[in-house]
Amino acid sequence: MHRPLMIADILTYAAEAYPKGRIVSARTEGDIHEQTYPQTLARVSQLAHALAGLDIQPGDRVATLAWNGYRHFELYYAISGSGAVCHTINPRLSPEQLVYIVNHAADRLLFVDTTFVPLIAAIADKLPRDLRFVVMTDRAHMPDTGLPGVLCYEELLDGQPESYDWPEMDENTAAGLCYTSGTTGNPKGTLYSHRSTVLHALTTGMLHPGTFHEGSRVLPVVPLFHVNAWGIPYSAPMFGVDIVFPGGRLDGDSLFDLLEREKVVSAWGVPTVWLGLLATIKARGRLPEGFQEMIVGGSAPARSMIEAFEDMGVTVCHAWGMTEMSPVGTHGNLPIWARDLPRDKKIDLKVRQGRRLYGVDLKIVDDEGRRLPHDGKAAGELYVRGNAVATGYFNDPAASAKALDREGWFGTGDIATIDPDGFLTIQDRSKDLIKSGGEWISSIDLENAAMAAPGIAACAVIAVPHPKWDERPLLVAVPEEGATPDLAEVHKLMEGHFAKWQLPDDMVLVESLPLTATGKVSKLTLRKMFEDYTLPDLR
Ligand code: ADP
Repeated sequence: MHRPLMIADILTYAAEAYPKGRIVSARTEGDIHEQTYPQTLARVSQLAHALAGLDIQPGDRVATLAWNGYRHFELYYAISGSGAVCHTINPRLSPEQLVYIVNHAADRLLFVDTTFVPLIAAIADKLPRDLRFVVMTDRAHMPDTGLPGVLCYEELLDGQPESYDWPEMDENTAAGLCYTSGTTGNPKGTLYSHRSTVLHALTTGMLHPGTFHEGSRVLPVVPLFHVNAWGIPYSAPMFGVDIVFPGGRLDGDSLFDLLEREKVVSAWGVPTVWLGLLATIKARGRLPEGFQEMIVGGSAPARSMIEAFEDMGVTVCHAWGMTEMSPVGTHGNLPIWARDLPRDKKIDLKVRQGRRLYGVDLKIVDDEGRRLPHDGKAAGELYVRGNAVATGYFNDPAASAKALDREGWFGTGDIATIDPDGFLTIQDRSKDLIKSGGEWISSIDLENAAMAAPGIAACAVIAVPHPKWDERPLLVAVPEEGATPDLAEVHKLMEGHFAKWQLPDDMVLVESLPLTATGKVSKLTLRKMFEDYTLPDLR
């Protein structure tokens, strides 16, 4: 039979199959909230009735601007389940980008956490006239918003029936919408369908049998407001895993306390978040009880960070992906032949971006689009194909026309190698590579090496213009408290792994690194900051 793959079926299944499965949330109201999957389904049904009452039609975009919590999760299912499109908005975008996105998506309703009400109030006059606002709290906590006709989330649910007749749709119906951060030009919207979402949840959920099963607990630090928290809201209920949502407190101490209190087994997030947790773990001299596994991706984690967690007994799984891939494309689980390798050889593999997921194909090509061998040496632009990969962008014909190559593969903009065992190594974003005298230098490799130097807490390597070499690498580093890292020492550490001409020409110390809306180091901002910088040999 051909049965359509529907998002609502994930939750109705979880409520039946895992009646004790729970969603635990650190709430914006300040306390910890818990509900089971059946209770969640009842509330999601109430919400779906409320959306119908607000005249939300199939295909309408309904936006969310919220932290990781149960109400945000409920919106995912109620909006998509009833046939509308759940448009998650990243609150770290600039006000101009927020205005652009809400207008471009033509959102009809916007659900907002109390924390982000001021963000919306400040731009409300530039948003579509007929857009309505719902604050995601109860009456007692409703802030004074100044927004016209504002509604209260819990009041919308009150008194609605606790079951809903979920419509069966074409599985290719749009279910979710997420805009890329748009470091160049306007943000671009990626649409996810019911089918792509369900398949992505299946393929990512089955990757971690040791931690992804009934009774286990996962904590997504990765936000629901960007690329669906790597699919956890769908994969966790499908596999019976409890979800622990951290709300807005993502500092090391708060995460440590929540991980321990809720006995979380597996936590997922970008490298910057784990640096904070690592500092707390070091300060307290121990791991949160029960914590076993960390999934890290979104940008390249430093080798030193992977080593630190692994040496404490946390399994680190490095993943790579992008918004247009729903987002996970590869995973860092070690193949069976690698499990007994010496520790350093294992770390060598874990630093790489991992192997492809079932359903994702990878190819690397040269400048003319010719395929390069998967020999671990040839580097080229990475293209992908798969059930959860986008074919273009929402209402953006110009960007869509450039998305796919002649063979219908999606261009990632990453430069990579793939070795004969299938391990992908991302060398750089093509725009972040440093081109010196016609040769490429990988900023990721240099950063990895620099992070091992004493006294460096965080760093980034960027290209700065050079009249003779075109570009030269500059190391921008954040020193550890009280430390004064030294370039000569960094060079000494790097010398074994790099040719002399590849080493950074200089090191500049800064207090912090600028981050993008998704918590990655913004190399674009850094390049602007150091536009007028003169390298030592040119002074
Ligand atoms: P944004 O969050 O900026 O909107 P994406 O999340 O889609 O965009 O970012 C995708 C890009 O992030 C990839 O193309 C790649 O360059 C980078 N990236 C993601 N994961 C990794 C990783 N594990 N290692 C290195 N780079 C990564």
